[in-house]
Amino acid sequence: MFNDSLLAKQAWRLLHDHNSLFYKVFKARFFPNTSIMEARDSRLGSYAWRSILIGRDVIQRGARWRVGDGKNIRIWQDYWIPRMHPTLLSACPISDFEDSSVDILIDPQSRQWNVEMVEGLFNEEEVELIKQIPLSNVASEDILYWPYSSNGVYSSKSGYKFLKMEDELMDRAHNSVVEDDSQVWKRLWSMNAPQKVKTLLWRACREALPTKCSLFRRKITEEDLCVRCRAAIENSLHALWSCTELDLVWGDPELWSFRNEVQFLSFKELLSWIIKHTQLLELFAVTVWSIWNQRNRVRLNQPADAIHQIAYLSKKWLAEYQARQFV
Ligand SMILES: [Zn+2]
Repeated sequence: MFNDSLLAKQAWRLLHDHNSLFYKVFKARFFPNTSIMEARDSRLGSYAWRSILIGRDVIQRGARWRVGDGKNIRIWQDYWIPRMHPTLLSACPISDFEDSSVDILIDPQSRQWNVEMVEGLFNEEEVELIKQIPLSNVASEDILYWPYSSNGVYSSKSGYKFLKMEDELMDRAHNSVVEDDSQVWKRLWSMNAPQKVKTLLWRACREALPTKCSLFRRKITEEDLCVRCRAAIENSLHALWSCTELDLVWGDPELWSFRNEVQFLSFKELLSWIIKHTQLLELFAVTVWSIWNQRNRVRLNQPADAIHQIAYLSKKWLAEYQARQFV
């Protein structure tokens, strides 16, 4: 950590001091058309350059943007919204906008937030936070600052402090996950639903379904894109929950409104959340089974339910199954 905090100091210099020979040499060789923040890992890189990239990653995780003209800040990839957690925005809703920078959200004449645009792209909480970010009357450059030191400038001491804190947070998250696990599995295996449904959920949690992502990893397919939307990597969370083509299945706002509000990193995280916060585990489970079954049938050119019927049919199936349990 101490080492990384020193490397980050070098990366910070490459970001802020553009007159040094150090900057000119590295810029010409490794990031001629971008800033160091966008520079990609390069095989050509020397040991020194690869080390600086380790430092750059520290800056990327810890630093925050202060909005000036918004041109240097990528909306969905950079930290610029003033909140502690989670700091990155949920996924970009419109594919053409994925790489857009913050300036498209600012009205260049009035130098105010373009409220219509902001409200169209973000959820309510995010809209409120964005509207509170002050904009100056004159367009100035965006500033990357380091929130862990009093003057906003990176120092290896404050960098080390940040890395320690990050490490403790990850440790804590990991421990609570381990404790949670046994509860999740207990509830999963004891739910009132057909065995094949439980097994599917278990496999989805383990990323053991033959999704495009896992086939790609095993080199069975050439690409890993979702078979429905072709716009994202198909892991089990995407295939069964977050794919936009499934909006029709998870559309009931009285049941699944959290789909638009809570962001999950894995299918297992989603399942744990549902167990903890809702009474919907069984309905969720049979719906997931129907989604997966429908996907596979379509792929094999077999007769399959229409996607807009899945929610209704799953509910009916569950009710019938549970009614039989009491006979
Ligand atoms: Zn998809």
